[in-house]
Amino acid sequence: MRVFKFGGASVKDPDSVRNVATIIRNHHGAGPLVVVLSAMGKTTNALEDLCTHFMEGNKDSMLTFFDQIRDMHFDIARGLFASSDHPVFRVLEQSFYQLYYYISEPPGTNYNYEYDRIVSTGEVVSTQILSAYLDQTGLPNRLFMARKLIITDASFRDARIDWITSTQSIQEQLTPFLTPHKKEPGIPSLVITQGFLGGTPQGFTTTLGREGSDFSAAIIAYALKADEVVIWKDVPGLLNADPKLMDSTVLLRNISYQEAIELAYYGATIIHPKTLKPLLKKKIPLRVKSFAQPGLPGSLINDNELFDSQNPSFIFKFDQVLVSMFPKDFSFIAEDNLARIFADFAKHGVKINLMQNSAISFTVCFDKDRTKTPALLRDLGKLFTVKYNDCLQLVTVRHYQKAVVDEMIGNREVVMEQKNRTTMQLVLRDR
Ligand code: ASP
Ligand code: MG
Repeated sequence: MRVFKFGGASVKDPDSVRNVATIIRNHHGAGPLVVVLSAMGKTTNALEDLCTHFMEGNKDSMLTFFDQIRDMHFDIARGLFASSDHPVFRVLEQSFYQLYYYISEPPGTNYNYEYDRIVSTGEVVSTQILSAYLDQTGLPNRLFMARKLIITDASFRDARIDWITSTQSIQEQLTPFLTPHKKEPGIPSLVITQGFLGGTPQGFTTTLGREGSDFSAAIIAYALKADEVVIWKDVPGLLNADPKLMDSTVLLRNISYQEAIELAYYGATIIHPKTLKPLLKKKIPLRVKSFAQPGLPGSLINDNELFDSQNPSFIFKFDQVLVSMFPKDFSFIAEDNLARIFADFAKHGVKINLMQNSAISFTVCFDKDRTKTPALLRDLGKLFTVKYNDCLQLVTVRHYQKAVVDEMIGNREVVMEQKNRTTMQLVLRDR
């Protein structure tokens, strides 16, 4: 049994939906398949905007977004289904009517609750279209509502998974469909569900945080102990750097879970760290493949550490601030002073990217934030003399090699450097 996850870019128009169907058809013969799908194209962003206007009572703008989102989905459906009598149109009509009906009433006061109620429509309608299209092209399937599979607490917009209940409900509902058909044992079964969504035991819809669909795929794979998860993306696989930031990149063909978790920890955005832990726990391999070039091998993440150090990987963070603190009372930087410093960072919710201490100073690098940074500096300034630098870049290099690091630095100034056996971090400033 395998789990495939397709993101929004893979279903942004009729042709891309056809492409997804072709990928499913080509892989389906190998055994039962669960397909986890995101909202189409940039629908989640548009629904977020709709939700903001809903909360602010801007009825006209809200309805403009509603019409745009609805039209886009009907356009895609018209591109896929020849007859306007196809039942999918009634299904979509109903989903959009439910949303329309909901936003016609005044909003409640809990923004996060309203957000999940509204934004979840994106995944629901995308799966309704894909499921009907697969049916039409001879790929019978069952559509399941993720709300009833992935059970969460009521932390709307960032719901926490109830692993025990979710595992149970996923197994109970999906297992009967994932065993070979009794009547047609030749046809492996196919299940479609939404990424990003969950539900409370009371039946309220929740979301798992932006870009949460990869995580959904991992949760389902974990519950069913899948043989493999494949995330289909608009890139050929995991690259050793963001191609927008570096001229030559290489594909990481095979890295370990641990390496992938490290990369994600330092800020590589390709896979959310939450996705990796459940897979690691059950040793389920994860592939990242290109939906545009499905024939290419892509990247494989499993427990093979053999190739982890083959290529250096680069992770860039921009708009960094470097702050050095010197105790005003000339005391040393020891536990008492560190405790005060960390308390200030925790109080202002500022995450430390890199830190270094000497006898008389403590230096920290973190993301600049319009409101948090000045508030933090004010508090730190009470006990410490604070030196401050901004407009810096933080580059993390895994498995560094001197020559490539020197080339990457170019003629920039190295303001701070830290390394251990596998990882080097540099704070750089343009000259
Ligand atoms: N549709 C959601 C988002 O855009 C979830 C996802 O695609 O992973 O964040
Ligand atoms: Mg997405």
